[in-house]
Amino acid sequence: MQYLSTRTPDHSVSLSTALQEGLAPDGGLYVPSHFPDLAPEAFADCETIESVAERLLRPFADDDPLADVLPSICEAMYGFPVPVHEVGRRTSVLELFHGPTAAFKDVGARFLADSLARLNEDADRPLTILVATSGDTGAAVAAAFWRKPNVEVIVLYPKGKVSARQEQQLTGWSDNVQTVAVNGVFDDCQQLVKAAFQHDAWQSRKRLSSANSINIGRLLPQMTYYAHASLQHWRAHGTRPTVVVPSGNLGNGLACLYARECGLPIGEVVFATNANRPVTHYLETGDYQAFETQQTLATAMDVGNPSNMERLRYHWPTAEALRDAITAERVTDDEIEEQIRRGPDEWDTVWDPHTATAVEVRERLDPNENRDWMLVATAHPAKFPEVVEPLVGHEIDIPDPLAEVMARSKSVPQISPSLDELGDIVFDTETPTSVS
Ligand SMILES: *Cc1c(COP(=O)(O)O)cnc(C)c1O
Repeated sequence: MQYLSTRTPDHSVSLSTALQEGLAPDGGLYVPSHFPDLAPEAFADCETIESVAERLLRPFADDDPLADVLPSICEAMYGFPVPVHEVGRRTSVLELFHGPTAAFKDVGARFLADSLARLNEDADRPLTILVATSGDTGAAVAAAFWRKPNVEVIVLYPKGKVSARQEQQLTGWSDNVQTVAVNGVFDDCQQLVKAAFQHDAWQSRKRLSSANSINIGRLLPQMTYYAHASLQHWRAHGTRPTVVVPSGNLGNGLACLYARECGLPIGEVVFATNANRPVTHYLETGDYQAFETQQTLATAMDVGNPSNMERLRYHWPTAEALRDAITAERVTDDEIEEQIRRGPDEWDTVWDPHTATAVEVRERLDPNENRDWMLVATAHPAKFPEVVEPLVGHEIDIPDPLAEVMARSKSVPQISPSLDELGDIVFDTETPTSVS
């Protein structure tokens, strides 16, 4: 398999190169050159999610140095359950929140971390991953890379701009993971990352890389839970469920479409968004337009200009083609609150604000239960107690893996948004250079 840039499709690279570069040199995003043909029968002997993952990802890694280690990467990628939970009314819930930071991003981050660590096994110095985070991504990346050999991670987050619980998830790391609180906003953190990448002293002293969500190494592994869940459904019911994916930057939804392209038994794919409108506006009008980001209760989906739109428009070049591939529905904060409030009575479930968008869309599109639904639960409600607890009227227990991460929380260095100050911490005392 080769990986092409969305902007220069005749520029193609191997899987390992795509993972290590992140972004293509022309600024485009890497996409697979084609999709393998894997009907449900191809998975006849695959029971576990790990074996499904290996079968599905094998063609994506052929001819690549990672092919040999793919079985062990797939074995290590989960290490936590991914149950499909029936909640009645022809509806099941794909629970992606049992990993260390209680959100679906753990899966992609763990695959990428393991792959990069293995590709750098023989390197003479570690690969340094720089991440700016507004909350959840940084925690998933830190957890995934923690104590992996030959890679180190520097996580920058805006002090006071993330929730208390998010901060506890960002600061519980040590060894090869360094977290730094920046006295500024998320954009300042992103600027620092960009400045480091462009700075000669940093470039010569560190092998810098990124692990953000546009890396194809986070997208491909996300196909595997859709594969496993849809095969389970197919074997039990003989139908292809409609899958509803709470979406922001569109990576998780795109992974679901990729799995369907490979032949997995997935029916309609519905992107549930919060009040941000880039996707629904495009499908309605045919004009793509970025919007100013609107803050909502489903914060991890607050995206006004989703990066994966570029991949969607590469594979489905017109609005009409994309309308054949997906449906998209917008959900307001009022509707999110209402679904969380009704969750315990109507579904015997406490929804988190992101998953609540999928529940609302399912109710809206099929009140009379005419087909099978699979709702993607992207996070555990305990990550968002400020929103969820008042609506359901009780405290939410924190799942054990997340509690472990939070218990390790400690104070971290604080800097102003200056590359100089970041350099002092990262290069410790060995830094006579003036980096500015
Ligand atoms: C990141 C995230 C999303 C949005 O996923 P995309 O791949 O960016 O569309 C939804 N829910 C939660 C909890 C998230 O962390």
